[in-house]
Amino acid sequence: MRLILKDRKPEVPGVESFIFEPKEQLFWKAGQFLHYVLHHEPTDDRGSDRWFTVASAPSEGHVMLTTRFAEKNESSFKKALKGLKIGEAIEVSDVDGDFLVENMDAEYVFIAGGIGITPFRSILKELEHAGKKIHATLLYSNRDEYIPYKEELDALDANNPHLKIVYIVGGRIDETAIRKAAPELQKPVFYISGPEPMVNALNNMLKGMGVPEINFKGDWFPGYTAED
Ligand SMILES: Cc1cc2nc3c(=O)[nH]c(=O)nc-3n(C[C@H](O)[C@H](O)[C@H](O)COP(=O)(O)OP(=O)(O)OC[C@H]3O[C@@H](n4cnc5c(N)ncnc54)[C@H](O)[C@@H]3O)c2cc1C
Repeated sequence: MRLILKDRKPEVPGVESFIFEPKEQLFWKAGQFLHYVLHHEPTDDRGSDRWFTVASAPSEGHVMLTTRFAEKNESSFKKALKGLKIGEAIEVSDVDGDFLVENMDAEYVFIAGGIGITPFRSILKELEHAGKKIHATLLYSNRDEYIPYKEELDALDANNPHLKIVYIVGGRIDETAIRKAAPELQKPVFYISGPEPMVNALNNMLKGMGVPEINFKGDWFPGYTAED
């Protein structure tokens, strides 16, 4: 299926959202991702396809891709994406992913590293649209004070007394932050999204803290370092 680029929105320095309109009906659930193909020449050895979370909520009606552009060693894919003009198309397929929030009775700790915030934006926007008040703490670490979606997240936070957002700037999410968010470690369900090394490190940390593995779910973004 082809998506047509309708708009581009700079989020913070180095991070941009691409807003697409599907040519046919496209169904996805908040938290899912799409497979993108962008043919371009020359193509580096990292190839012409990527996976990206649908950062928009289904209720928003468009597909939003938000990505961080690297300062060095940028891939040819990202260069081609950066060059995409309004009205141009990108190929997508395979909506997939089980990073979904379905049990509204559960308590959640969401952990986002940098651009790993994308599925949480979709999830929280969709819940707000449905009038559902999730019980959740979002721990969101970012490399600097330019935090993608901060205004939108603050608005979501203000509309839900059971949602708490903790921003961690320039540091890592450690055991102390987790224990503060979840004084009863056995109780909440942990959702972790971000660069692959960060998600792996947090999975190990939670395991070490005695959180049952069944209570955590990860969304791994390859191709980024823990600092991204
Ligand atoms: C399910 C899923 C969902 C995802 N959702 C998102 C999303 O919402 N937003 C998002 O931005 N990404 C997302 N990703 C990750 C995305 O697919 C890309 O892997 C990521 O954006 C990196 O893009 P890139 O490889 O074009 O590298 P770039 O962004 O161009 O570079 C990233 C960094 O990687 C280094 N690097 C990595 N590999 C190499 C290599 N082989 N050679 C040289 N340098 C290298 C570069 O130096 C640079 O610092 C998702 C991935 C998955 C699997």
